[in-house]
Amino acid sequence: MLDVFLGVVISQKRHSPCRSPFQRFYISCQPDLSFIASKQQTVRMLNSIIENRLFINNEYVKSSSDDTLTIRNPFNDSVVTSDVQVAGENEVNIAVEAAKKAYSKGPWSKFTGAQRSACMLKLADLVEQNMEELAYLETIAMGKPISDLLKVDIPHMIGCYRYYAGWADKIEGDSFAPDDGVYKIVHYESLGVCAGVASWNATFLYAAWKIAPALAAGNTFIFKASEKSPLAMLAMARFYKEAGFPAGVVQFVSGGGHTGALLSSHKQIAKISFTGSIGAGIKVQEQATKSNLKKVVLELGGKSPAIVFSDADFELALGSCSHGFLFNNGQICAAASRCYVQEEIAPRFIESMKAEFEKAASALGADPLEKTTTLGPLADKAQFDRVLSFVAAGGKSAKLLTGGKRKGGNGCFFEPTIFLEPADDNTAYREEIFGPVLVIKTFKTEEEVIEHANNTNFGLAACIYTSNLDRALRVSSAIESGAISINGPMIPSYQTPFGGFKQSGIGKELGKFGLLEYTKVKTVHINIRPQC
Ligand code: NAD
Repeated sequence: MLDVFLGVVISQKRHSPCRSPFQRFYISCQPDLSFIASKQQTVRMLNSIIENRLFINNEYVKSSSDDTLTIRNPFNDSVVTSDVQVAGENEVNIAVEAAKKAYSKGPWSKFTGAQRSACMLKLADLVEQNMEELAYLETIAMGKPISDLLKVDIPHMIGCYRYYAGWADKIEGDSFAPDDGVYKIVHYESLGVCAGVASWNATFLYAAWKIAPALAAGNTFIFKASEKSPLAMLAMARFYKEAGFPAGVVQFVSGGGHTGALLSSHKQIAKISFTGSIGAGIKVQEQATKSNLKKVVLELGGKSPAIVFSDADFELALGSCSHGFLFNNGQICAAASRCYVQEEIAPRFIESMKAEFEKAASALGADPLEKTTTLGPLADKAQFDRVLSFVAAGGKSAKLLTGGKRKGGNGCFFEPTIFLEPADDNTAYREEIFGPVLVIKTFKTEEEVIEHANNTNFGLAACIYTSNLDRALRVSSAIESGAISINGPMIPSYQTPFGGFKQSGIGKELGKFGLLEYTKVKTVHINIRPQC
């Protein structure tokens, strides 16, 4: 449908067919915008071509269920669409059957690693050529600034596909010398039908982290985006077909927790990779165990510490703890939402943090579709209410330094907020808020801050700011978390495994480790007969 629309516009206006209206609209240096009457008109046109259907067996299909999702733009609360098709049991079963067939009988089952790699590279190219469209759809659904999507999320997704495309023909095994008369071989084999269920805050990343390694290893995949942000993934689905993935290899179903549960409890699915809250993660694991003991990877919540020692580069720590933390409004699992600052520099650091948060608040309210906007609204009203309730609870036993309320009268804008010196049992200090709310505590010694940092059920990430390398390494060894960043915010890389300790998760995504999580290990022993 989109192609038809683009074709008409393009042929009428004699523009180069390699630039979509999205590209012409967003690339500000592209001068030839004369065919667009106004931004509003373009947005209306683009909204009228939103893909709402499911993507099963390489076709867009309607659901037999009457359930639909409504997506509201958190910038102004307008309805983007009220007709996103929800996959019920019937559609999930059809998708699983298609994925099974593709895995065991279809052309995919005979693809070499190099062929899988070629499809993945083509997909990355197609995404690169259509970034503006995908970014637009994500921004209108969950409010993330389009510039962040174009500069960070989508390039990361593209890079992740290219990274795993490189692995597709390099999954090697092991062998051991027959010193005991047995020649031993270890194979890494694909699992079969895999599924992914994700949260809404960085859909492009989670889709890539789950789907790309699964495909590299030869699996088939069914992905469910969050009910808050399904649109970009549905639009992207067509690129898998265009990239040459056979029918049934990659499929997209939409829906909320019920659809997610249909996947995690499906008896024919071999693995589920879940990104979301601890509560839902526990249910996913239960459903997986009770159905068929499928393999489970859980990427769950965080309440990560940032530790700022007095010998840190002050400006670097300040920028990372303020604007680094506020990226995507703190709606990041690895966001360092507990900041510990050493007493010697605390007064200046806290004052500077307040100033940076207030600077960010003053720019709040701009349309996230504008390329200059760096801080958008929260994802939706439910997320806004959640943040507000944590702020109300947090205010009971901590000093509110700045923020704490809605910005403006329209949309889900929430002022960047800092609480100071919370009590140990303060809710805003102990629990994950997943919003622009930071708590700051001061500390005297290394031992004391390690104890504070580890005094939590979470263990996703931690940041350490110091110019003393010995201290950085000592503290990083003592911190109980799956990822540590020294002198910068924790930004996952597709080269290194990412996943939490404690209740922040089970298993890893990314890197070679994340690839092998999509394999099962088979041992073959060859008994060498002695010479007669
Ligand atoms: P959520 O748990 O409400 O939903 C996540 C996904 O799970 C959604 O797609 C939802 O439809 C689905 N779901 C809900 N109940 C389910 C069930 N019983 N069975 C199967 N699927 C179910 O979380 P959210 O609000 O979307 O995201 C915020 C949470 O995600 C935060 O806790 C955040 O820390 C966490 N998160 C973790 C990571 C990570 O990599 N560790 C990354 C991003 C977000």
